[in-house]
Amino acid sequence: MGFNIVVCVKQVPDTKRITGDAMKEDGTVNRAALPAIFNPEDLNALEEALAVRDAHGGTITVITMGPPNACEVLRDSYYRGADRCILVTDRRAAASDTLATSYILSCAAKKLNADLVFCGRQAIDGDTAQVGPQMAEKLGFSLVTYLEELIDLADGTVRVRRNVGNGWEDVTAKLPALVTVLDANTPRPYAARRQMKYKNAHSEGEIVARVKKAGADEAEVAKQVDALKAKGLFIESWDLDELEADLQWVGMAGSPTKVHRIQSVVLAGGEYHEFQPNDEDIAELVGNLIEDHTIG
Ligand SMILES: Cc1cc2nc3c(=O)[nH]c(=O)nc-3n(C[C@H](O)[C@H](O)[C@H](O)COP(=O)(O)OP(=O)(O)OC[C@H]3O[C@@H](n4cnc5c(N)ncnc54)[C@H](O)[C@@H]3O)c2cc1C
Repeated sequence: MGFNIVVCVKQVPDTKRITGDAMKEDGTVNRAALPAIFNPEDLNALEEALAVRDAHGGTITVITMGPPNACEVLRDSYYRGADRCILVTDRRAAASDTLATSYILSCAAKKLNADLVFCGRQAIDGDTAQVGPQMAEKLGFSLVTYLEELIDLADGTVRVRRNVGNGWEDVTAKLPALVTVLDANTPRPYAARRQMKYKNAHSEGEIVARVKKAGADEAEVAKQVDALKAKGLFIESWDLDELEADLQWVGMAGSPTKVHRIQSVVLAGGEYHEFQPNDEDIAELVGNLIEDHTIG
């Protein structure tokens, strides 16, 4: 029979490559200084969904909420095997905190009539790990966090081994369910044929930007959209109207989080000290750690 699976993926700045330019003067993230990547645990979430489809059949719809260039993670999802990808994008969603983000994503999952939703445990930029659990609450779905292994899917339930820090526990949850995934598996690589095909998949926002740059008009946008639709390469975009979202729960209005202060911490090169694997250096390292109360 197969499952109707939704995977939430987020495009994030590569926080492993942070330099002194990572933050702007006003304390916001300088996204131009950091390459945008697929949130690592969302790759694990997608892999888990692909494994379920391999074993039980069904369809995988990948959704991301973000600006038009977030389509990069959607193309990546197509290369790995997603059936359908949707960009949730709307200026009125700007300044959404995790509560508003999860509301918007839950509207999309509801519209898609999902049986199973997979999210990464957390995004490496926001790092809150709140979006998955908040989505489950809004959808009224069972919630299982920290998936280490999906053991079974049968009789309207999902059985999951979850990581609990120093060990694991097996839980059974009724479907529909939302599961957040750790780096529990090895994401499959791109399929070459899919990459050749879907590298040409674009959303309307991307087409508009491209056509504007070339100095062409709206008729050209419509022509290119129709051409992509005919080839199955048009990435759908949903706005808040399409999701029938209540505007009081989105953007600034729907975001109770208030940022009082942002501190930019940049480690200077002078703080870097390399220890060699010899007795003398190890003794010095342990001495330093005791001195600053990290150990002892
Ligand atoms: C006051 C405030 C204002 C903000 N304003 C903005 C803003 O204007 N623009 C902006 O881009 N961000 C903004 N943010 C950040 C934004 O709220 C978070 O990035 C977002 O809510 C996700 O939270 P997180 O990164 O902690 O995700 P987590 O909860 O750590 O993510 C868990 C999982 O949820 C899923 N997920 C999370 N976000 C998305 C997404 N966007 N699409 C699909 N799946 C997702 C992924 O599967 C992810 O692994 C703001 C945050 C605050 C607190």
